Amino acid sequence: MATVPAGHGAHQRAMVGSTLGRWYLTPQAARPRTLRYAPPMTVPRRLATAEVLSIGTELLVGETRDTNSGDIARALDERGVAVLRVQALRDDLDSVSAAFSEARSRADLVISTGGLGPTPDDLTREAIAASLDETPFVDPDLERWLEALWQRRGLPFPEINRKQAWLTPSAIAIPNEHGTAPGWWVERPGESIVVALPGPPREMEPMWTGWVLPRLSEVGLGVPRDVRTLRLSAIGESQVADRLGEALLRSANPSVATYARADAVDVRISALDEGRPGSADPGASALTAAQLADQAEAEVVRAVGDHVWARGKTTWPEALEAELERRSWSLAIVEAGTGGAVTALLGGIPQLAHAELRDSLGTTSARAGRGLTSRALVERTAREVAALDGVDVSLAVAVRERRGDTAVTVAVTTPEGSHSERRMAFLGGSQGRSRAALAAADVLLRTLRRGTSAGQRRA
Ligand code: AMP
Ligand code: MG
Repeated sequence: MATVPAGHGAHQRAMVGSTLGRWYLTPQAARPRTLRYAPPMTVPRRLATAEVLSIGTELLVGETRDTNSGDIARALDERGVAVLRVQALRDDLDSVSAAFSEARSRADLVISTGGLGPTPDDLTREAIAASLDETPFVDPDLERWLEALWQRRGLPFPEINRKQAWLTPSAIAIPNEHGTAPGWWVERPGESIVVALPGPPREMEPMWTGWVLPRLSEVGLGVPRDVRTLRLSAIGESQVADRLGEALLRSANPSVATYARADAVDVRISALDEGRPGSADPGASALTAAQLADQAEAEVVRAVGDHVWARGKTTWPEALEAELERRSWSLAIVEAGTGGAVTALLGGIPQLAHAELRDSLGTTSARAGRGLTSRALVERTAREVAALDGVDVSLAVAVRERRGDTAVTVAVTTPEGSHSERRMAFLGGSQGRSRAALAAADVLLRTLRRGTSAGQRRA
């Protein structure tokens, strides 16, 4: 376990006893100050894998939501780094230092947040030093900077804050402009890079995006990758998984994953270049990320292509707006029994023909709302509304709860013809109504895309 010097005077002694000489057998080894403030001994390489540690007992008792790890993991993933593991840890020296050791043995990069405060429960520095078998010391420059923060306000320097001026021989300080806890960037040749950041997001975030990410990019962050998302409707996640099959869903590269979102089931395809150094196949037969993603996408489309309605982050209003825009058509919505769920979903579409409809809608929706959800009535309502001035396309929707689920009747009339359909939405109540609105949006989008030139169609 690392021994910890009490103050500035211990600095020289600590350096003598440190393991510095084991790592840096250069003339600089005798001059640790130069060494620490020189550009880091960064050897350009590919940082392909990472682990994230969220440190703080407050995270394990629900006092604080761990937002840091998700933010960090997303940033790493976006840059082509495979995040192998995210862990939340109690403020306990042994478990935190074991976690650092294990993470360092598995990943190219270990990022921690939390535990850099001045209080005795904040033990991240001690834990990293123990994991590296290095001895922390008080860095005179950091100490001067820290003391000045209190002098500025005419306050005595609290002794417990002195450990925020610590470094270890292979750590350099990451400046913190919003707090008293500098971070640590720890780098030893041939080993994973360790970055320790403070817990408060307002301190962590600027250090992460302003200092750490640019430096990691200089080292060589991530592997070229290709990510695509296909958005599916009118199919459940388990059905999607069933059709995709285990082989595809278990493949590591490309990886194919399903996500049940509120408005769609997303299939996310993510592929990394095979030709990266250290990969199984760095040679000429290696496929690029785009080639791997193309192959996976072709398989996904073969299996569930009939349910794909959009790509990426496209929303229902965006997809419908694009279809209406293409033909310069306006849209009117009439809904009954939905509690306004369809308008809540699609109300933002600029082609909505609000003003012209206000009067006529009153009578039509009152009629539909009397519980008359027969398909014939919904179809007729759609036709009548489409005949109103200023309306090109009408969407009429009526829902009724049936045995715990929601029966949805949808009719669409466009200048090219009419189409109607019945669907069952999972669950009743407001969840069922929201799903009914998605079903209505789906019927509308499919109708617009396929055209209704065959005239009256009933599915
Ligand atoms: P620290 O003194 O570095 O341990 O950070 C302490 C404070 O930072 C906590 O009281 C929380 O308010 C916040 N914090 C710590 N970890 C996280 C985290 N993973 N996500 C969001 N906030 C955090
Ligand atoms: Mg803490």
